[in-house]
Amino acid sequence: MTTPMPSGAGRFAPSPTSDLHVGNLRTALLAWLFARHSGRRFLVRIEDLDTARVAHDPAVADRQLADLRALGLDWDGEVVRQSRRLAAYAAAVARLTDSPGTYPCFCSRREIAEAVSAPHAPPGAYPGTCRRLTAAERAERAARRPAALRVRGGDITVEVVDALAGRFSGPVDDFVLRRNDGAYAYNLAVVVDDLAQGVDQVVRGDDLLASSPRQAWLTERLGGRRPTYAHVPLVVNRQGQRLAKRDGAVTLTDLAARGVGADAVRSRLAASLGLAEAGEPVTTADLLARFDPTALPRTPWAWDAGDAG
Ligand code: GLU
Repeated sequence: MTTPMPSGAGRFAPSPTSDLHVGNLRTALLAWLFARHSGRRFLVRIEDLDTARVAHDPAVADRQLADLRALGLDWDGEVVRQSRRLAAYAAAVARLTDSPGTYPCFCSRREIAEAVSAPHAPPGAYPGTCRRLTAAERAERAARRPAALRVRGGDITVEVVDALAGRFSGPVDDFVLRRNDGAYAYNLAVVVDDLAQGVDQVVRGDDLLASSPRQAWLTERLGGRRPTYAHVPLVVNRQGQRLAKRDGAVTLTDLAARGVGADAVRSRLAASLGLAEAGEPVTTADLLARFDPTALPRTPWAWDAGDAG
């Protein structure tokens, strides 16, 4: 007899734009720890809706998976690629068009930035310019510009509870489901996939905290229950800015070239999380045994490329 798999799941969902850097790897390690610590499955999803469309190195995703393995992370089941899930996104759009409703939007970014928001709309909300166009106005605009598709979110504020950030409120406006170049939007795809994959625990960088009210709301509109959230602090460079490839040796490949192997990177990440002494060799199993989600650092961690090797 086989042991049944636990029903819940956590996930790591990289966009294959470039190799993972130590900030991405730290977030992946945390997502793995949160999932495994709570007895959940751990899934990996490649968010390639954009990269599959524009000219791009298809080997990046494979290198990302190899780097996760080198760090000692394992995952359950097949890796899902968003570029193969377009039918599921189309079905979700059809459902949302039934309720709460969708509408085409012809606004450019500039028009949105320059429009005056509705008096009670939360800050950052879409001003609603295309919400009440007549059929004739729509036809006239459609002749000039392809439309994006927006969901009727209704200009409300939704609160989520985050394991690290606590209570967080943000706007749910008429956000984009499908862009005017035909690509499904990140907020739609991520919610549809998390629902389809049984993801009930979202652990990711805190740059995405602001997206979570819209996503929680959309999850419920699609008949699901919102996941738990943990938005983890980012890794920053010496200047306190979000770490990027230009900050020097930040990927496993760069670091290996300087003699810093994946085991040493795992040790450094563990030390940054308070799960190891500086320089202590550790396995992911050691880290799992030591992991306490309530005792994580709440501030960004500064990666200093200079002392990497
Ligand atoms: N694909 C997104 C990124 O790489 C992460 C999406 C998510 O975790 O919800 O930033």
